Amino acid sequence: MNAEIIAVGSELLLGQIVNSNAQYLSEQMTILGINVYHHTVVGDNPKRLGEVLHVAKKRSNVIIMTGGLGPTKDDLTKETTAAFTGKKLVYDQDTMDRIEGFFQARNRVMTENNRKQALILENSHVFPNDHGLACGMGLKDDDRLFIMLPGPPKELNPMFEKYVIPYLRKQMQHAISIQSRVLRFFDIGESQLVEIIDDLLESQSNPTIAPLASDGEVTLRLTIRGLDETENENELNKLQDEIVSRLDKYFYGTGEVTLVEKLVDELKAKNTTISSAESLTGGLFASELTKQPGVSSIFPGSIICYSNEVKKSQLQVSEEALIHGTVSHECAKEMARNVRQIMGSDIGISFTGVAGPDQLEGKEPGLLYIGISTEDETKSYELKLAGSRQNIRDRSVKYGAYLLLQM
Ligand code: ATP
Ligand code: MG
Repeated sequence: MNAEIIAVGSELLLGQIVNSNAQYLSEQMTILGINVYHHTVVGDNPKRLGEVLHVAKKRSNVIIMTGGLGPTKDDLTKETTAAFTGKKLVYDQDTMDRIEGFFQARNRVMTENNRKQALILENSHVFPNDHGLACGMGLKDDDRLFIMLPGPPKELNPMFEKYVIPYLRKQMQHAISIQSRVLRFFDIGESQLVEIIDDLLESQSNPTIAPLASDGEVTLRLTIRGLDETENENELNKLQDEIVSRLDKYFYGTGEVTLVEKLVDELKAKNTTISSAESLTGGLFASELTKQPGVSSIFPGSIICYSNEVKKSQLQVSEEALIHGTVSHECAKEMARNVRQIMGSDIGISFTGVAGPDQLEGKEPGLLYIGISTEDETKSYELKLAGSRQNIRDRSVKYGAYLLLQM
């Protein structure tokens, strides 16, 4: 949002008076947080004022005029602005009453010229003049704000402070845009994450940072309020860069994206295929993967191998591996390697573990192994998760996707 100030008056151009209104208005606008980019002085000449308005409309959101609102022939600001915006001049009853009151109190006769001072641009907002006769006006037209104020500082200053500032504040509220962005993190607890960005949380007020933990993930919502959307976006980018530079390992995306979505996108982009061998998750990984449209190009299938018999018969898991137990690095690795070979995919992933609530093979609920096999190597990751049976299974799938994204 930017503004310009147009001082109307030939006496300014003749050097008879100093354009102190421009200085006053600029100072006030700066306090309000509105940038003033131009000052113009133009004589009491409708053609030249029209030209100035034409330029102003192209480059400014708020156009403030001062001077030329009086009753004399040379006061043409209202007429010129009305013609420029295509608005009619209409009588404002409140202003008329004020003017009549002014003359009655002084026992003077009101002239037709004085009545002219009660004319306002149709649909404009009136700023009463508590120290003179000419009222000010605010007009919203074509997404621009035209503000007309009287010339004498003793009228303009109190009018600005009492009526124009609240009006501008209200208009600015409509103009303020609120933008927000969600950053997503995995494999890190909320308290640990908050500690790493503690100084930012303490010092940031715009944008604000709001952490939230749910479903084993932590999100940070960055919210900014400001007048300029591009500037807001830049500020959000700067803050995001700072946060991600500290939490790079855990950051996986912005917005409503899930780890599995991200994984599918990445596999598709690299044209890499994946298959799964699922004991603990019983097909949950395949189910999540196949929620994504077009996944068939990278996902040939999954073998659900819940019992040891099926692990042996369908996946050729060896007796040697099973000596270490189903819930073991050895079993996870063989499951991953074998499913990759059976399905002929680039990657094989396996899930084996104790979903609970009871122990299995003397191992505690939440202990699990995720095997990942490629042509180059086969690895297994041990995890210990807390939570309900469903929770452990859901998070295993997310961990699987997370580990694959780290590769
Ligand atoms: P009026 O009803 O008094 O005629 P107006 O709104 O028509 O007010 P002008 O006729 O342009 O305003 O100016 C009236 C007086 O206000 C000037 O003689 C001058 O003293 C003062 N004035 C006008 N413009 C400015 C300005 N830009 N800076 C400082 N003083 C100004
Ligand atoms: Mg005048």
